[in-house]
Amino acid sequence: MKKETQCVHSGTLQDAATGGINSPIYCSTAAEYLDRTEVPYQRYFNTPNQAAVVRKVAALEGAEDGVLFGSGMAAISTTLLALLRAGDHAVLQAELYGGTHAFVAELFQQVGIGFAFVDLTPEAIEAALTPATRVIFLETPTNPLLHLVDLRRVADLARARGVLTLVDNTFATPLNQNPITLGVDVVLHSGTKYLGGHSDIQCGIAVTNGTLAKQIRHTACHLGGSLNAATCHLLERSLKTLHLRVERQTANAGRLAAWLADQPVVARVYYPGLPSHPGHDLARRQMVGFGAMLSFELKPGDVTSLNLQRRLQLIRPAVSLGGVETTICAPAQTSHIKLTRAEREALGITEDLLRLSVGIEHVDDLLADLEQALASTSAR
Ligand SMILES: *Cc1c(COP(=O)(O)O)cnc(C)c1O
Repeated sequence: MKKETQCVHSGTLQDAATGGINSPIYCSTAAEYLDRTEVPYQRYFNTPNQAAVVRKVAALEGAEDGVLFGSGMAAISTTLLALLRAGDHAVLQAELYGGTHAFVAELFQQVGIGFAFVDLTPEAIEAALTPATRVIFLETPTNPLLHLVDLRRVADLARARGVLTLVDNTFATPLNQNPITLGVDVVLHSGTKYLGGHSDIQCGIAVTNGTLAKQIRHTACHLGGSLNAATCHLLERSLKTLHLRVERQTANAGRLAAWLADQPVVARVYYPGLPSHPGHDLARRQMVGFGAMLSFELKPGDVTSLNLQRRLQLIRPAVSLGGVETTICAPAQTSHIKLTRAEREALGITEDLLRLSVGIEHVDDLLADLEQALASTSAR
């Protein structure tokens, strides 16, 4: 099946009682056990509503199986703890989602797992591998500068050494990039973002092959970060329109990126779909679409990062991303606020950088809002 069809149909549960065409919601946390080999229980990650979502996302990512969690961080932390033990080593890119970076930096030390944060070139990743390395963890495109990593090259060099490659695919979505088809072993998502898509549910998922899924599920039962039936239902409902949303969001982002790049007050635009982006050729090879996240910097002048955010009327200054509504934030004051200014500058994140999460609105309304907000104060 094509992805559009998988979004709608993959994983849907039969409703024998009523013939209804939607998956029924199974909310019991107590179930009869006599004459049953397995009792469904949310924290065992074995309920029908969890399975329905896993099958849909696994189909979209080209995976065999997966484990559904109560947040993106539950998916990431549980997966890493399932695949690593004391004495093992992990190589992670330095430009990583802040929560993942903090989890590794704080918790790996406590449990005796070695780690190295490295630059995102395949050469830097290869150079950081040690005989104890079991896992490489990547994100592409990165937050907030949309840098790209060559997934096939990293997956190939990892496989040659018996190392697993994990990719947080939250920014790209399963519509715009499928790391498993490029040789990656495990794909993770913060479902709170595009999969949920309406800025109203928290969830996460890991999809992979059958053997690794079993291993992750085993650790997940200990850690307990499962997703309840009501939220599984909302997520399944959201995923039916994932394709429509992401297609529109990606198209809108392409238009906004090109328009911003033409504005005299804009110094730089970071978007993989722009031919000027250093990862543009790689993006064309490994992505289906260029995604709906973009960042930009303003030239010094009377429109600043802060007053631009205050002047916008439709686009809301807000944290998080991936919803149907367009939002804007300054990473230096939000996602990267815990770093020092020097650490941010080393990553290329200036105090004035602005990140847009582009929604499904009509692009003309988004352009009009940006245009009125960017108009110089003196010209008003
Ligand atoms: C938000 C996010 C996470 C964490 O997800 P939560 O659902 O907030 O736990 C992980 N990775 C990326 C890239 C994210 O944007």
